[in-house]
Amino acid sequence: MESPFSDMDWLDTASNTLDLAIQKGLYTEFSHLKSDLDRIRFIHNHRTSLLSNTFERYLSSTSSCLTKNATTAINFRKKGNDYFVEKDLSRAAWCYRASIALSTSNSQDMALSYGNLSAVLFELNHYHESIRAIQLANDYYPTELKFKLVFRRAACYHKLSDPERSAYELKICRDLIKRTAGLDRKKIDSFCKEMDQLSRQIAILNKRKEEEAEEKQEPQTMSYKNLDDLIQNSPTPTETIVACLSKSTEEKATNEFCPPSPPSPPRSTILVDESKLLLNGSNKYVPCASSTLRVANSKDKGRHIVANQDIPSDVLVLNERPYACLLLPKFAYTYCDHCLTSIVIPYVCPQCSHVLFCSEHCQQRALASYHQYECKHIHILKTLGIAFLAYRTLTITDHETLWTTITQTTIPNDNEEQNKIYKSDYVSIQKLITHTEQMSIDDLFHYSLTAYLLSEIIKSTNFLRCNQIKKRDTEQILLASILLKHIQQMICNAQTISITKTNQMDDIIFDNDDDRDEVTKRFASAIFPTCALMNHSCVPNIRCIFDQGHLRVYTAKPIRQGEEILNCYGPQKSLMPSIEQRQNVLLEQYFFKCQCEGCVEIIKPHVEPIANGEN
Ligand SMILES: [Zn+2]
Ligand SMILES: [Zn+2]
Ligand SMILES: [Zn+2]
Repeated sequence: MESPFSDMDWLDTASNTLDLAIQKGLYTEFSHLKSDLDRIRFIHNHRTSLLSNTFERYLSSTSSCLTKNATTAINFRKKGNDYFVEKDLSRAAWCYRASIALSTSNSQDMALSYGNLSAVLFELNHYHESIRAIQLANDYYPTELKFKLVFRRAACYHKLSDPERSAYELKICRDLIKRTAGLDRKKIDSFCKEMDQLSRQIAILNKRKEEEAEEKQEPQTMSYKNLDDLIQNSPTPTETIVACLSKSTEEKATNEFCPPSPPSPPRSTILVDESKLLLNGSNKYVPCASSTLRVANSKDKGRHIVANQDIPSDVLVLNERPYACLLLPKFAYTYCDHCLTSIVIPYVCPQCSHVLFCSEHCQQRALASYHQYECKHIHILKTLGIAFLAYRTLTITDHETLWTTITQTTIPNDNEEQNKIYKSDYVSIQKLITHTEQMSIDDLFHYSLTAYLLSEIIKSTNFLRCNQIKKRDTEQILLASILLKHIQQMICNAQTISITKTNQMDDIIFDNDDDRDEVTKRFASAIFPTCALMNHSCVPNIRCIFDQGHLRVYTAKPIRQGEEILNCYGPQKSLMPSIEQRQNVLLEQYFFKCQCEGCVEIIKPHVEPIANGEN
């Protein structure tokens, strides 16, 4: 199953522009430029001769493929129905989520897909979530079919051991059938049998609950003064509740066929004080790290992280939220675009069909901030890889922080107490290394073009503060230079995040992928300002796990006081035994020749122990 995203090749455009720059003799001029601002000014000044109207064409040519698409939405729902019949529930769920993403907001199509998703969730025993999906389906669901939704809700409450609520929903369901004209008699007869069956099950459940309640009451009976007291203090009889509820709905039912449920509990979110999880609590100067770690600085290593004391194996030493993160496009309908958790019930962007969110909270946060600067051109951004992460890092930052940080002329004094604190914030992002000196001119040219394209996208939104054309140009050039810096920073500091299949909820995660049996898979990239300070080793002494929106760093072996904390940037010795291969990977992306214990150990001439004279 292919996600319906357009594919555009920015690489080709950039290569052609580079060729043209060489032809026109401009390449040498570019190669002598010293700062990111100069490189951006160069692109800006030569944009007409090098690019004619490339940016304009690029930004306008594919803008039609971002809208909602009813036909595709219906096709995905049909596909989902096929999978549902085949009992391939995870694929069915994915198709319904895709269908919801592609449907116009507040449409019957969207309601139908939410309704079908609720059936999948019911089958997967996620009853609270099924009820929530029914609630989202309710308003635009075809009136003549609403009884089906209500019946499913009754079944959910039964499964949730709530006979009162279940009976109440069943009563509404019967009322709806009575009121709906033109229903197929045969179908209704068989449906009524299902309702009768559920009704019997509810009665059994109810009886059992009453018995349990009576048993629980027994030790307390001693304290009741008389029978009246006992009746008054015992749980309300079921019939009375149902009668009350039915009465109130009958009154309402004239204009409201299917009253919405009370809000069901959200996805299990256990609120914990994350800093308390760290070994010996959080560090005074680096809040997301354990107090057993500190940031050190040396000429050859730059900033790095070392152990303050001996640390045992398997303890949490760093716990960081990403400053910005980016889902790989193929997981757009599986994970939340905002917090990267798996989506059970999707929440949409009302404009584009490229993102889904796990909750109303994430939806509102994204739409109110960075997504408004992505939405219109997200199909282009998604083809730009790490440059998109650079873009999001900029647009996720609130305006005041952004402009204060990038226009700051004085360098903050690191000796002042407040400046010693290293937070996972935009100031820390700004301080991350770039390796510009080691980058090839071709690469820098390419990144400069991409940064300029990103600034054109920004300019087409309401991100810039100014309306005067000249000032807008100045702002655009400044932002493009910051984007160019962020692109270079992301290349050597961003981290790939993998997810490991762990719990029952994962039934609905590993779906739209060929290698669905794979246990661990890369699904996003992100920037963690503190974790980025760690140097590399092919035999790291930590392991990273992404969980509940946090990168949790555990020690993988006992670490001695003063020892450096070392992460692996990708080529791990256990997975890539060839030292040559590992060193090439590291040199290409991170510009260093690895001298870690895993590499040095092999470089040393290997002396065979003298043994029985065999060889
Ligand atoms: Zn989320
Ligand atoms: Zn959007
Ligand atoms: Zn190494």
